[in-house]
Amino acid sequence: MTVAGVDEERWEVVIGLEVHAELSTRTKLFSAATNEFGGEPNTHIDALTLGLPGSLPVLNEHAVELAIRVGLALNCEVRRSVFARKNYFYPDQPKNYQISQFDLPINAEGWLELPSGQIAGIERAHLEEDTGKSTHVGGGGRIHDAQYSLVDLNRAGVPLLEIVGKPDLRSPDEARAYVSELRAVLVAVGASDGKMEEGSMRVDCNVSVRPRGAEEFGTRCEIKNINSLRSLGRAIEYEAARQVDLITAGDRVVQETRHWNEEDGRTHTLRSKEGADDYRYFPDPDLVVLDPDPEWIERVRAALPPLPAARRAVLVDRLGATREQAALLVERELDALCLATVEAGAEPVRTLTHAEHNLSDDRARDLDPAAFASLVSMELDGELTATQAKTVLAELVEHGGDPVAIAADKGFEAMDSSELDSLVDGLIADHPDEWQRFCEGDGKITGFFVGKVMKATQGKADGKVVTGLLNARKG
Ligand code: ADP
Ligand code: MG
Repeated sequence: MTVAGVDEERWEVVIGLEVHAELSTRTKLFSAATNEFGGEPNTHIDALTLGLPGSLPVLNEHAVELAIRVGLALNCEVRRSVFARKNYFYPDQPKNYQISQFDLPINAEGWLELPSGQIAGIERAHLEEDTGKSTHVGGGGRIHDAQYSLVDLNRAGVPLLEIVGKPDLRSPDEARAYVSELRAVLVAVGASDGKMEEGSMRVDCNVSVRPRGAEEFGTRCEIKNINSLRSLGRAIEYEAARQVDLITAGDRVVQETRHWNEEDGRTHTLRSKEGADDYRYFPDPDLVVLDPDPEWIERVRAALPPLPAARRAVLVDRLGATREQAALLVERELDALCLATVEAGAEPVRTLTHAEHNLSDDRARDLDPAAFASLVSMELDGELTATQAKTVLAELVEHGGDPVAIAADKGFEAMDSSELDSLVDGLIADHPDEWQRFCEGDGKITGFFVGKVMKATQGKADGKVVTGLLNARKG
């Protein structure tokens, strides 16, 4: 664990993330206006989005189902919940309140398992509506210097799930791993497309520092406007170092909301932190209590796809993959291929190694497991060298086909071992001086002999086998 710029023997960094994910519904959370990204400004709207008098919210059942899916995937308890109004002046939300869930969220008390095995707590994952978007024109796009502002309500009312993590993370790496894993879960259950670049997944990051060994948490700052994993790491490092410097200088950290500026690589004060009281939350009288039927919850649970953590565990348990391999292969969606390949008779270790190093191409997911298995066997039987196997594999990914035919086509026919024996004997006889040096233990001369064999066989021999033959003759 490292946090650049912070003396980690003396300080511990504490991080808790709030992630907003836009749910992949067809329509908005409380109306039939379309939930589609982009579009001409103010075309994805209706009376409710505009906050017109007399319009009433109607809860989107599919949004609730997606929220339940995520809650179950995050090992939360799915509970009876209440929608509340969160009041303040929103230029991009004409009702002037946001419908959210406050003290009674739909999902609570869960956890997420990271690829390292670390368990990160989830406090709650509640439903709420998104706001619209303001564009500040003139003055470099910042509100205070703008000449005027434009409002687009297309996004207003889009269903969001706010996933509030416990302050269990201790480094930028852990924070990044948490966000990637959460994204993988959201995508796996079909709740969201998880695109940080398009804003369908947005991360607010709470950071505090405390002297190592201290029991109590330090005062935190919340950082907004983080839109990539890279920015997340940079923002945490900057903010942690800033707080340590403040405390070390005898100052104190003030709880506030800060803005991450990608250009200068710093966080800046945005506003002092509001308390929950400031929002005058109260239950929305237009909506009834949301109390999902236990049978419905169980049906949703039964229909969940295998989640990334379970898929990693299968690779580790069944194929003996390392944690790192399992993380990488599940992330690249290669786990099903590896399992099927081993099922088709391939040796697991070699299969995993190829998948890890030689199958970065997206098309590799569609590889024929039987062909991949036969390639692994050819290599382990000595019919192909490691390099040749790699070449044949690349060809299989590119065009498919039969590895035996591809190997023959490339002239990778099996090297007869007696052929190799006599070749090595001949070389030793022709190069007595070099052989002498080899026998005296001059390791550098090995390459000389291997090179000659490769030249004579046009690269068909296996370098390791040749070295073995040379060593065997050393006596
Ligand atoms: P609020 O309602 O003011 O947003 P919460 O208690 O809901 O406060 O916490 C919001 C987020 O801040 C959570 O993700 C939590 O993990 C994180 N958090 C709380 N205390 C700390 C702290 N001392 N340091 C870092 N993160 C914290
Ligand atoms: Mg909060």
